[in-house]
Amino acid sequence: MASTLHHWCNGTSFEGTGGRFSDVTNPATGEVSAQLALASSEDVNTVVAAAAAAFPGWRDTSLAKRTQVLFAFRELLNARKPELAAIITAEHGKVLSDALGEVSRGQEVVEFACGIPHLVKGAFTENASTRVDVHSVRQPLGVVGIISPFNFPAMVPMWFFPIAIAAGNTVVLKPSEKVPTAALWMAQLWKEAGLPDGVFNVLNGDKVAVDGLLTHPDVASVSFVGSTPIARYVYETGTRHGKRVQALGGAKNHMLVLPDADLDLAADQAVNAGYGSAGERCMAISAVLAVEPVADALVEKIRQRTVGLRTGDGTRGCDMGPLVTAVARDRVAGYVDAGEAAGATLVVDGRAVQPDSEGEGFFVGPTLFDHVTTDMSIYTDEIFGPVLAVVRVGSYAEGVRLINENPYGNGTAIFTNDGGAARQFQNEVSVGMIGINVPVPVPMAYYSFGGWKNSLFGDSHAHGVEGVQFFTRGKVVTTRWLDPSHGGLNLGFPQNE
Ligand code: NAD
Repeated sequence: MASTLHHWCNGTSFEGTGGRFSDVTNPATGEVSAQLALASSEDVNTVVAAAAAAFPGWRDTSLAKRTQVLFAFRELLNARKPELAAIITAEHGKVLSDALGEVSRGQEVVEFACGIPHLVKGAFTENASTRVDVHSVRQPLGVVGIISPFNFPAMVPMWFFPIAIAAGNTVVLKPSEKVPTAALWMAQLWKEAGLPDGVFNVLNGDKVAVDGLLTHPDVASVSFVGSTPIARYVYETGTRHGKRVQALGGAKNHMLVLPDADLDLAADQAVNAGYGSAGERCMAISAVLAVEPVADALVEKIRQRTVGLRTGDGTRGCDMGPLVTAVARDRVAGYVDAGEAAGATLVVDGRAVQPDSEGEGFFVGPTLFDHVTTDMSIYTDEIFGPVLAVVRVGSYAEGVRLINENPYGNGTAIFTNDGGAARQFQNEVSVGMIGINVPVPVPMAYYSFGGWKNSLFGDSHAHGVEGVQFFTRGKVVTTRWLDPSHGGLNLGFPQNE
């Protein structure tokens, strides 16, 4: 019997009034594991009101006390992360080791946020003008909304909420309706860590919940991660309603392999980055640009590694799990059909995979195409599945041109032993995150994560110093203490003396 999952509001479970539900499914077996309550507009108002009510108290809580709660959350998370990883595997499908890796990368942002006293320190200038001092402070925004995608149920929310909370904001997290349990589990963990009720809330739902947050006058900012059309919509709607918005979108990440590269390393990394998490990563490699004359050798090395992978239930020690839903599985299989029909060479066909699982899971095995051309949909579209497309190019310059012509600009990688070529590459590609012999160059928590072009709307990347700036706003205070010779009336614009 499937359980029912609700919202989390003001430190406790909240049933809401929506009266609409969606299925939460285990993608490895196809079984429905829970019914998820979808928020109504009234529920949005209730949850935002709880967050707004908690804001003054949390904003005025000292940095020392706030960081104590963050350290406690970090300790609990570190001790119990296998529980969270198991939840992720059960709802997303990625294999357990990958789920654990996701939690660990999210935890790094919690650790970064523990340093918030240093990160929000202002500047002070003594005697900027005669007997005038100036100092700056950074203050929290208020209620901040976070809207996250299905593919990282724990890490993507953790790109934002540790910093938002540390900086003194209160949070409404709207997780993907496909994977809601991780958010509810983390809400419970915050409570155990001593976070006051109302500071961290979870609103489950679909477009109704998202639109409610985007238009609510008491929501100060929105941090969104998901597909490009929705990211653009969120950015445009949120900013139109006066909010600060960062909206991270989709991707089509290229890996450029130069002839001097270590081809075994490049093949290993193409497989890891193309098929890890069944290709459902915004930093997944999906196009391999092989510079001739090494394409034959590279494709053969990728093929050998691909056919050895074991696909199945993520709890069984497999290399790769299922796609998240039956719809996603059919969409990916449709792209494989289209690539074949368009004339690409299908080197490894994942449609016929025999997964190690029970039930009716949503599997497509690792799939490899060669001789892909840039007009094919397997090249132009974000497939978000385990499909690698090898495009043969004649030169470094042709590879860079393709990367720069792509409408997305999330991540890219070059494989080479030529330092000069790598240096030139990092300088001239229009992409936000670059790997040099590193296929999935996800920045550390103390740098900022974000792409260019259609991979990010807004001007603020996630976490790192940009994250701190996003969740705070600056104030500058100019002070003069009166002395016996104060200046009297002067209606001119203030000038420094
Ligand atoms: P999605 O855009 O379908 O959903 C993201 C969020 O938006 C979810 O919470 C969903 O409930 C909500 N949403 C969906 N449709 C909506 C609508 N019509 N109106 C309002 N809200 C809506 O994305 P997804 O399928 O969950 O995630 C996969 C996508 O996310 C891929 O495109 C991937 O590249 C991208 N992604 C990007 C990054 C990044 O850092 N750039 C990271 C992870 C995922």
